[in-house]
Amino acid sequence: MKDVREQVAQWWGFAEVGVGEYTMTRGYRKAAIISIGNELLNGQTVDTNAAYIAGQLRTIGVPVVGAYSVADEEPAIRRKLALALEEADILLITGGLGPTDDDLTRQAIAGLLGVDLVLQAELLKTLRQFFDCRGVEMPQRNTVQACIPRGAAAIENRMGTAPGIRAEFDGKLLFAMPGVPGEMQHMLDTFVLPELQRFVAGQVIVVRRLRCFGAGESKIAEMIGDAMLRGRNPLVNCTAHAGVITLEIVATAAESGTAEVLAAQQERSLRGLLGDLAYGTGDQTLAEVVGEYLVRTGQSLAVAESCTGGLLASLITDIPGSSRYFTHGWVTYSNHAKNTELQVPMEMIDKQGAVSEQVARAMAQGARRRSGADYAIAITGIAGPGGGSELKPVGLVYIAVDSRDGVDTSRFVFSSDRSSVRLRAAQTAMNILRLKFRI
Ligand code: AMP
Ligand code: MG
Repeated sequence: MKDVREQVAQWWGFAEVGVGEYTMTRGYRKAAIISIGNELLNGQTVDTNAAYIAGQLRTIGVPVVGAYSVADEEPAIRRKLALALEEADILLITGGLGPTDDDLTRQAIAGLLGVDLVLQAELLKTLRQFFDCRGVEMPQRNTVQACIPRGAAAIENRMGTAPGIRAEFDGKLLFAMPGVPGEMQHMLDTFVLPELQRFVAGQVIVVRRLRCFGAGESKIAEMIGDAMLRGRNPLVNCTAHAGVITLEIVATAAESGTAEVLAAQQERSLRGLLGDLAYGTGDQTLAEVVGEYLVRTGQSLAVAESCTGGLLASLITDIPGSSRYFTHGWVTYSNHAKNTELQVPMEMIDKQGAVSEQVARAMAQGARRRSGADYAIAITGIAGPGGGSELKPVGLVYIAVDSRDGVDTSRFVFSSDRSSVRLRAAQTAMNILRLKFRI
């Protein structure tokens, strides 16, 4: 069983041991986030502060190795601070700096440092002014907000009453900020990040995303072999959403040029292993890469949809400038509409059923004929939850693409709920077109 610290270190690519041929990074500064408040633990408030802090830290090259929510209990906060200091060099704390009895962050920090709280006259004056400006008398209990652990410094709060706290412990840095998101964000951006930037000088993180479609997470993980091993630099992480698998490449180095090169090399290697499963980078969607190709080649596209009810047209028109290539979209949900709008023969629908290869093909041909577009995609299927049979189960979808080269039809069975079947069908249709274009 590995030591917890070693595991965390490896997960983030800061392993003490080298793995294979990869460059290992040692000694880079890491952060942990501690969010304090009962409301975070009872489901009342979502911890958006942690997400904001983590996002901002990434921009300055600081990886977050842990994020914790803690109750408004002084011993619990102190224990969590001590634990987080084992794995991180920087602690970013939010919440519990208010004036009420459940605001215990300053006491917990003082306890951790083994010092008492000192009332700072300057802070008290600023607090009194804050209330004076609003024409109200300062409640006595706000006095506690002018108390700072001995040896620590206050951080100015321009948005509210609670000053932040900056403390040092064993060469490590602690910053406590208010819980109110607006106050926390202002304090982090204005005072904390600039100092952290100096603290972590000589550490850069470059992140690249490779977007893939056409295989599941496990298949992709299998194909890329050791690339996802923990403890590597670059580190490769994997997430899946609506059939799109995103491989996130995180490269760490002493300066940006080296990190860029590491990330680019990793991307090339992944592309080599994944072939045409990789379709784009960053936040690119399938509809975007297909659209770019159509613009580049001056070609047009129409769609005819049944079970997706316009979702494919929606994905296509989500892309600004899609009017340059998208000409028509039909939602032919009924048999009558398939027949009158797209000239799908009634006998064909009666004989083969509306969800059939033949009808998909006839819909695509009808859409291309009527629109005059270079490409027409048709989708017909059973989104569920009802309407399936043994021969034609829920999730069965036919997708046809008609072009000057003729019509191709593919059959899929997507196993999921109604909205996922529909989204998967629309995305797959875009992917079929992308593969046709060899992009
Ligand atoms: P506090 O500074 O602990 O008094 O928090 C003040 C208010 O800020 C709370 O009542 C919450 O509504 C909000 N808040 C505190 N912590 C967070 C957090 N981590 N994420 C989002 N909102 C928070
Ligand atoms: Mg609180």
